[in-house]
Amino acid sequence: MKVRSGFVSNSSSSSFVCSVCDYVETGYDGQYSIPTTYCRRGHEMCSEHIDNLISKLTLEDKKQLLLEDNYFSEDLRDEEKALIEKGNSFAIEDAFEKLTEYWDEAPESLCPICSLGIIGDWAVLKYLLKSDTRTREDIEKEIRSKYKCLDDLHKGLEV
Ligand SMILES: [Zn+2]
Ligand SMILES: [Zn+2]
Repeated sequence: MKVRSGFVSNSSSSSFVCSVCDYVETGYDGQYSIPTTYCRRGHEMCSEHIDNLISKLTLEDKKQLLLEDNYFSEDLRDEEKALIEKGNSFAIEDAFEKLTEYWDEAPESLCPICSLGIIGDWAVLKYLLKSDTRTREDIEKEIRSKYKCLDDLHKGLEV
C-alpha cells in the first residue's frame, strides 16, 4: 500500500492520530515509524487496520469491490473486466493487488469507521439521543442534578 507522506515543508513536525486505535505519534515532514493511510472520507489510520480487513476478504468480496469501485473499474481494460466478472480468480487477485498497491486513499467499504466496524462515541450518542424521549439538554440537566463535579460523575458511572 502506498504510504502517504503528508505535506512537504521545512522539517515541520506533525502528529498522527489513528482514528481507529487512537495511536498517536509525532513525526517530521509527515513521516511516521509505521505506515499510515487515509480513507476517501479522510479518516487517517494505521495501514494495518485496512490490511487486516483486506486479509479477510473472500474472492467474491474482492470481485465486488473491483467492479463497484468507480475510481478503479474505469481503469480496468475491457478484457480484464470481463474475466473479473466471470470470477476468474487469477484476474481478480491480480487486479486487486494493483488496486491496493496504487491507491492513495482506501475506499469507504474497507475503512473500519466508514463501514461501521467501529462506531465512534459521537455516533453512539446521536443514536441514543434519537431513540430517547429526552433531549441532550434534559440529560445534561439530570447529570448536573445528580453529581457535583466530574470526579463525582466518574465515580457514579463506574460499573
Ligand atoms: Zn491504529
Ligand atoms: Zn473512513
